[in-house]
Amino acid sequence: MTGTAQWQQQAREHLFQPFVDNAALQREGARVITRAEGACIWDSDGNRFLDAFAGLWCVNIGYGRPELAAVAARQMQELPYYNLFFKTVTPPVAELAAAIAELAPAHMNRVFFTNSGSEANDSVYRMVRLYWQLQEQPERQVIIARHNAYHGSTVAGASLGGMAPMHRQGGLPIPGIEHIQQPYWFDEGGDLSPEEFGLQAARALEERILAVGPEKVAAFIAEPIQGAGGVIIPPATYWPEIQRIVRKYNILLVVDEVICGFGRTGEWFGSDYYDLQPDLMPIAKGLSSGYAPIGGVIMADDFATVLAEKAGDFNHGFTYSGHPVSAAVALENLRILRAEGIVTRVREHAGPRFRQCLQQLADHPMVGEVRAVGLLGAVELVRNRETRERFPQVGQTGALCRDLALEEGLVLRATGDTLLFSPPLILNDQQMDEIIKTTKSALDRAWAQLN
Ligand code: PLP
Repeated sequence: MTGTAQWQQQAREHLFQPFVDNAALQREGARVITRAEGACIWDSDGNRFLDAFAGLWCVNIGYGRPELAAVAARQMQELPYYNLFFKTVTPPVAELAAAIAELAPAHMNRVFFTNSGSEANDSVYRMVRLYWQLQEQPERQVIIARHNAYHGSTVAGASLGGMAPMHRQGGLPIPGIEHIQQPYWFDEGGDLSPEEFGLQAARALEERILAVGPEKVAAFIAEPIQGAGGVIIPPATYWPEIQRIVRKYNILLVVDEVICGFGRTGEWFGSDYYDLQPDLMPIAKGLSSGYAPIGGVIMADDFATVLAEKAGDFNHGFTYSGHPVSAAVALENLRILRAEGIVTRVREHAGPRFRQCLQQLADHPMVGEVRAVGLLGAVELVRNRETRERFPQVGQTGALCRDLALEEGLVLRATGDTLLFSPPLILNDQQMDEIIKTTKSALDRAWAQLN
């Protein structure tokens, strides 16, 4: 047995895979992806797919850039590994920290490195609590997050996240985390206008702060635009009100930039897009465009100063905090994003064009709403466009459309009955048109099957 059949068999017998039904997968067999270039991936049988999901929201500069492979090889030969524990640093890590500080909001100039977004959020959980201990307000330990948020799969990350199916497995969330309403107008806005609903959802934070006791609340954490939850773009009134509330109660603001960071919204960070003043920004994904695992927490100067001056030893870190190969790859990725004006192109061309293109799907009888910011987009599928009523078996229609699109060579994702798009930022106009054409065809075929 060789090739596809061999790899599928090996996976069937020896692999346990994330976020899938492993029993079902063993019956079906996994798709084997062997190669990628630009915005496209190929399977082991030579079939080409346009990847409208950039892997997992991460391959911002597109696949197959030889420059990243070259710096990885060079770094592996020169210094494949050293750590940051023993009062040491390596050149790519020092240079990457400086490059990130240059791109981050002006008041944020320090980075703690991790290997992933989940580890970044685990680090946030500890940093935030430590910060208030050091500020002699040790009772401030509660972190407020949102239902249907995604902050990762480690214990603290999944607890900060508000995904009920994750909480059900393994007894999460851990104590000290509260979840409030998400700003999801389409599903939860009822008869309110998006603006009214945005204010209401933001005020849920103030209500919870008052219910918990302001003196006990350490931080509020949120994605600028909820990604995995359904590319939920908050109404325009939401973030200004959140910013007002966290200031009023002197609560730390943690903006999870794991998806929005590094150009996805057409700005370097979602915090730039919404004009936010975070205390901490967890990052990952687009930092290396997924070519090597690396994440981190960008810290506001005031926050970092307290931890540096008052904590003594910071008793937290990973063997691969600031891995030199990942750091070299990330540095080259940032160089390319800047040198090629990729983020500017998303802001000025690709983002507005994508929003316009998605509008071509808005009249479809099954589509309740289309929305996009930068190269993040969503299409809501409904039974009744007027009332926004969902199909009875939520998730079935989304999965059907996703599978039909895949049959036609397009990778997109479905969360419930919401189709999600997050293509590489280097997507060209022709590829964008292909996304729309194939999605439309999948919608038409699904509609025909359902009627
Ligand atoms: N935070 C957000 C907003 C994410 O979307 C993700 C992953 O999708 C994470 C954190 C977790 O990152 P990782 O999968 O790198 O641990």
